[in-house]
Amino acid sequence: MIGPGSVIGIIGGGQLGRMMATAASELGYLVHIFTPEKDSPASHVAYKTTHAQYDDASALTDFAAHVDVITFEFENIPHESLELLESKKPVCPSASVLKIGRNRIREKTFINELGIGTANFRKVTNLAELTKAVQEIGLPAILKTTELGYDGKGQVTLRAEKDLENAWFQLKTDEAVLEAFVDFEMEISVIVARSENGEALSYVPVQNIHKNHILDVTIAPAAVDKKLADEAEAIALKIAKALDLRGLLAVEMFVTKDNKLLVNEIAPRPHNSGHWTMDACVTGQFEQAIRAVCGLPLGNPERFCDAEMKNLIGDDVLGAQKYLDNKNAKLHLYGKTETRPGRKMGHVNILKVK
Ligand code: AMP
Repeated sequence: MIGPGSVIGIIGGGQLGRMMATAASELGYLVHIFTPEKDSPASHVAYKTTHAQYDDASALTDFAAHVDVITFEFENIPHESLELLESKKPVCPSASVLKIGRNRIREKTFINELGIGTANFRKVTNLAELTKAVQEIGLPAILKTTELGYDGKGQVTLRAEKDLENAWFQLKTDEAVLEAFVDFEMEISVIVARSENGEALSYVPVQNIHKNHILDVTIAPAAVDKKLADEAEAIALKIAKALDLRGLLAVEMFVTKDNKLLVNEIAPRPHNSGHWTMDACVTGQFEQAIRAVCGLPLGNPERFCDAEMKNLIGDDVLGAQKYLDNKNAKLHLYGKTETRPGRKMGHVNILKVK
């Protein structure tokens, strides 16, 4: 166990790191952030920040020397950097988990090998392979870069044969995945926490509604029947166990029109669709992540009440103060000074208090 008073190193300086740092300090830890970003949301609430690039070996070595355990809010750091960190200090989740989670092909292959469904997919490395993959999978389909995509970046929807050439060159990548388009009924996600001794707990499945490929609203719990909810939790727990996870795992899934579940992607860290837990559950996802990473007993993930989370994206933040007039709304702002379209500036949790 890594006890209070220890220093938790967090890779990444965004809002997830900020909320992890706050939760860690409430449990008596100090947090040291590693980020290339100056004036980052996490650095505002952290004990220390190292400003350096994610491939700066000497800065990483120095960072590792000053922390007791290392975790992430941003998982796209070079694999060599992860291995370097892992050679110095415990890294949770491990480099091998991150290696799977960051690459869409490895991720889907791993999930399928567990007997869990995903959209039908093919690896594509050139236009000829894309043409062949489209013949096999059909249209519409979605072409995604295998790595480094988020919030709809690095993906193109293909609707007609004539779109292929443009789509391939637009993506500017040498490896992509072509996915069958899932005509889903609903998008849901499940967040699970798992600790070193194998204890694992799940939050209820929630519904996620996206706008312009960015999460807009999360409804907790998702309006699905108990059988499907149990199945979704079982899938997330099975993936966490197979990864031998120590930390948090978010599993995004599609509910198909015929009520089946297909996993879209996984993220081994706190997740935007878990922000509602901060105010509506006995133990919020950020505290749970810190507990799992430090080897503390996991907290109770049950909710006091249903909730709805609304992201404040770009200019939405200009109207944020109105939520302060709603007695059941909990406003969370990330301290970002520059507002940009598509940038997550904060969120509000509306608690459905009876
Ligand atoms: P991703 O970056 O994979 O999470 O995709 C972002 C969003 O695009 C998802 O939340 C879905 O709304 C949509 N999407 C991604 N993949 C598919 C798919 N295979 N079929 C239908 N919609 C998808």
